[in-house]
Amino acid sequence: MKKLFSSQDAFELQAVRSELDALSIPYMVKNEFASGAIGELPWQDSQVELWLIDESWYARASKVVEALFLKANDGVTSSGVDWFCQHCGEENGGSFEICWSCNKAR
Ligand SMILES: [Zn+2]
Repeated sequence: MKKLFSSQDAFELQAVRSELDALSIPYMVKNEFASGAIGELPWQDSQVELWLIDESWYARASKVVEALFLKANDGVTSSGVDWFCQHCGEENGGSFEICWSCNKAR
């Protein structure tokens, strides 16, 4: 068994789980505080862990997790807002990280 991912965010966990399901990667869910207060929802305020049952999936599964959250981060940073190059003043599209004109990094 190998720990793949842990989060308090039910949406993040669900995203990872659905990817693992789609790829038929065997995993199990552990909740560190599962024996908490009576009436407490298991998803609330507790760190939930996803463990790979078969460690040989780890390389594949960690790429899945990486890709998921890279995608999420991209959505925040490159929201399509144009920017101006600090070196040559050219306008560049929001999805570009390098100036099309002088090739300097954003
Ligand atoms: Zn430039």
